[in-house]
Amino acid sequence: MAGEIQRIGVLTSGGDAPGMNAAVRAVVRKGIFHGLTIFGIHRGYEGLIHGELQEMSIGSVADIVLRGGTVLKTARSEEMKTPAGQKKAFEQLQKRQIDALVVIGGDGSFRGAQTLAAQGVRIIGIPGTIDNDIAGTDLTIGFDTAVNTVVDAVSKIRDTASSHDRTFIVEVMGRNCGNIALQAGLACGAESILVPEIPYDLDEISNKLKRGHQRGKNHSIILVSEGVGSAFKVGEELRARSGFETRITVLGHLQRGGNPSALDAVIAAAMGGKAVQSLLDQETNRMTAYINQTVISRPLDDAYGTRRPLNRELYDLANELSI
Ligand code: ATP
Repeated sequence: MAGEIQRIGVLTSGGDAPGMNAAVRAVVRKGIFHGLTIFGIHRGYEGLIHGELQEMSIGSVADIVLRGGTVLKTARSEEMKTPAGQKKAFEQLQKRQIDALVVIGGDGSFRGAQTLAAQGVRIIGIPGTIDNDIAGTDLTIGFDTAVNTVVDAVSKIRDTASSHDRTFIVEVMGRNCGNIALQAGLACGAESILVPEIPYDLDEISNKLKRGHQRGKNHSIILVSEGVGSAFKVGEELRARSGFETRITVLGHLQRGGNPSALDAVIAAAMGGKAVQSLLDQETNRMTAYINQTVISRPLDDAYGTRRPLNRELYDLANELSI
């Protein structure tokens, strides 16, 4: 598939994230602006394998820029992990003479894209996941919105916690990455933040709760990243150590929903535009990345190899501020 591209496919894959629609819109509109034909692929790789592709018009992405979720739908596809599935996916693209694919999703979705690149499709990855767990970019689409959602929820929980003199343990998403817990915890002044990247000491947390209580503090909030384990278990252990009543809230999927924040919508639009520009510039095997407040294109391989580091300085500061 050498030469100039004419036809681009776009799909969303893995977990949905607020802002994905703004990225889809940007790919469709910038592509059409430059005279390309854009196909929307429904339900990620699962839909691609089963031929669920549709040409997108300018109007097909009207009114979605600030809508949460993904209008293209998303899915996880076990078949795409097999050589037979990858061949079927490639054949569906070939059938419609699609020369390039923009994949919006997490690193699993990027791996799927690389199997198509190996068959000659030009690919660009756009990092879209609330977890902010992809190396090579400061932010992924959806993270900022999810952090804002957690902060909003925790501020409501704090109201009831202070009325009842209670310790609340709030479990947040992030898979193996503590970024949501760290950013939201710092933003809302959580008393402790438990993340999978850094060992924690429940005796020390319990002592901190007791010290706070002695100072007259009547409530505490502890944020637990899901990668640490169950918030219920943390709650039980803290109650056993401190004697304080604990209440547990698992925020769950509400963290995935809602309109994207302005920051996510802007990053998503810029990444969608950059993805198309990359393809117009004959690039392939690239990802879009947000670095120092600028969206750039860089090798897709930069998403792998290293684990995204947690900002240790911010983590230490959060501990210092919650003495
Ligand atoms: P999120 O971080 O939001 O979960 P993700 O893209 O990492 O997003 P995954 O479930 O890991 O989510 O991957 C999405 C899809 O990408 C999988 O269902 C599968 O179809 C495809 N995929 C993942 N890994 C591979 C792989 N090694 N080879 C081929 N396809 C893959």
